[in-house]
Amino acid sequence: MKLQILLFFLIINISCSYLPPTRKETLSKSNFQWKTDSTKHYIFYYEQYTITPNYVDSTKLYYERGFNELLNYLGVSSNDKKYNVFLVSTNERMELLVGRKTNGAAHPDDGTFYTLLNQNKITFDKHEACHVIASSEWGRGNEAWISEGLAVGSNGAWWSYELHSLAKYLHQKDKLVPIKELIRNFHSYNNLITYPESGSFIIYIKERYGLKFIKSLYKEGAIAIENQLNKSISIIESEWLNEIKKYDSAKILYEEKVIKYGANL
Ligand SMILES: [Zn+2]
Repeated sequence: MKLQILLFFLIINISCSYLPPTRKETLSKSNFQWKTDSTKHYIFYYEQYTITPNYVDSTKLYYERGFNELLNYLGVSSNDKKYNVFLVSTNERMELLVGRKTNGAAHPDDGTFYTLLNQNKITFDKHEACHVIASSEWGRGNEAWISEGLAVGSNGAWWSYELHSLAKYLHQKDKLVPIKELIRNFHSYNNLITYPESGSFIIYIKERYGLKFIKSLYKEGAIAIENQLNKSISIIESEWLNEIKKYDSAKILYEEKVIKYGANL
């Protein structure tokens, strides 16, 4: 069987703010029988009757490759820890396991994450792995817009669209959430806007002000913008909007795709 690799899976149900069970809690559930496999940096848990071995093999390859890309992205020179990945075959199994239907969820402090994996949903994106690695290297991120922006940015794209181009598209449609609002009330807005928007914004800040500043932002929150850059959030927002103008959004059909999946912008 030819494996189709979807690097940037279409995320509809996002549950990143939700804390799923720890590895230990999950392993204590008697209605799941896990097989395990491992690589240098991950222990994979999967239900042998629901996921075929070739998917597990591909997952191992992609996660290890992605691991090094994530270390580069986060500026970490080496990391010998092992993280737990639960490969869950269906939305229903995911709900039974973590309490809600979602494509992915991470428990960063426990170094554990859950991801949907089946014939139609081969999710080799780096989002959840970015959460757990950032957390184990930098500590817990305190503001959602930063940790989610960082995780979205680790893929460089959202729904296969390059982030700055998609942000320009959303800006042209007047859909972007003002950055001050994104910071204060991230979860009050449509996550199909807030996730790619924060991804583009964080990548802009990383490109313009460097990874060291991103780490401060991650640890201290938005206050670091005024404290360290001596600039207001509105100024940084204008700089970002000027930057994304340079990108091409002409071929983006995000809203059409979103509607096809039964959601709205
Ligand atoms: Zn997330």
